[in-house]
Amino acid sequence: MTDGELEDAARLAGVPDEFQRLWTPHRMAYIAAGPEVLREQCPFCAAPEKSDADGLIVARGRTAYVLLNLFPYNSGHLLVCPYRHIATYDQASPEEVAEIGELTQIGMRVLREVAGCDGFNLGMNQGAVAGAGVDAHLHQHIVPRWATDANFFPIIAKTKALPQLLGEVRESVASAWPRA
Ligand SMILES: [Zn+2]
Repeated sequence: MTDGELEDAARLAGVPDEFQRLWTPHRMAYIAAGPEVLREQCPFCAAPEKSDADGLIVARGRTAYVLLNLFPYNSGHLLVCPYRHIATYDQASPEEVAEIGELTQIGMRVLREVAGCDGFNLGMNQGAVAGAGVDAHLHQHIVPRWATDANFFPIIAKTKALPQLLGEVRESVASAWPRA
């Protein structure tokens, strides 16, 4: 075999069965890092310091910004965060509340346009007991939903099947985001 030539699968080891394989090598970085490593610094304070592509940011406002969730429930799962490191919604200033709401509405419109979703789950989990993964920095989830997105994967294998890589999703959402 020469470089660049595709190897014939029939000559490789293994016996085919009825299962499909979903290869998600990009997730290895997070699995290998483990949850503790990711907690060491606040990811929502760190993201705005990076470039949009590196921080998975789709839009930056005055007091709040929008980024992709690194651990999406669905393709296109967005988070709206204030820049300020505050833990709960009642700590947000009137301007932050208004802008989080405005960015959430725009995010829904953009996802409807680029992803053609049928519905949304919106929400803020506040406090670890309420399911917040990063409980020190407020964030609103925007989860796009499709009629066909629920399946047996999460139940039997603790696995979410995500058809698009994060970089591609960021590109399509960021380029459809209306510029002020
Ligand atoms: Zn923070």
